Amino acid sequence: MPPSAPASRSTATFQRPGHDHRRCIDGALAAAEERCRRRGAKLTELRRRVLELVWQGHEPVGAYALLDALRAEGRAAAPPTVYRALDFLLSHGLIHRLEKANAFIGCPRPDDPHAGQFLMCLECGTVIEMDDAALGAAVAASAAKHGFAVSRQMLEVEGHCPSCARGAAGG
Ligand SMILES: [Zn+2]
Ligand SMILES: [Zn+2]
Ligand SMILES: [Zn+2]
Repeated sequence: MPPSAPASRSTATFQRPGHDHRRCIDGALAAAEERCRRRGAKLTELRRRVLELVWQGHEPVGAYALLDALRAEGRAAAPPTVYRALDFLLSHGLIHRLEKANAFIGCPRPDDPHAGQFLMCLECGTVIEMDDAALGAAVAASAAKHGFAVSRQMLEVEGHCPSCARGAAGG
């Protein structure tokens, strides 16, 4: 038997500067359209645009920055407009809300049920989503020892990404 490839789901990792981010955006938008179609949900033009704006980089984006961006495009957007669009995207698993930063980040794998596990660079603000099922299972097992049933996990880990860590080491 050939050695089986490790069961790798798309693994997010810290991107090198200059990576083709348009591919990240296009992939996320295509996945969102497909997911909404399957769920009979309407990805309106505004919702799609908000998702695209959340995906403008790998740093979390706050609601008011989104509002400013929409207004800069000449849209008559008010905070409730933005929050409704964000709620829609959250409810379909297309974005996550980072609680400490109170900001939003696109989810690279909305179709896989997963806990929110994030590595957050304190220097450049880049956030990547880990996908470590063992970690989620360990939290659930620990919680069970307390008779606690986990309904949602959110793990935000702060530190330094590889390029910022290299810079700090003297570059
Ligand atoms: Zn990217
Ligand atoms: Zn996710
Ligand atoms: Zn960094």
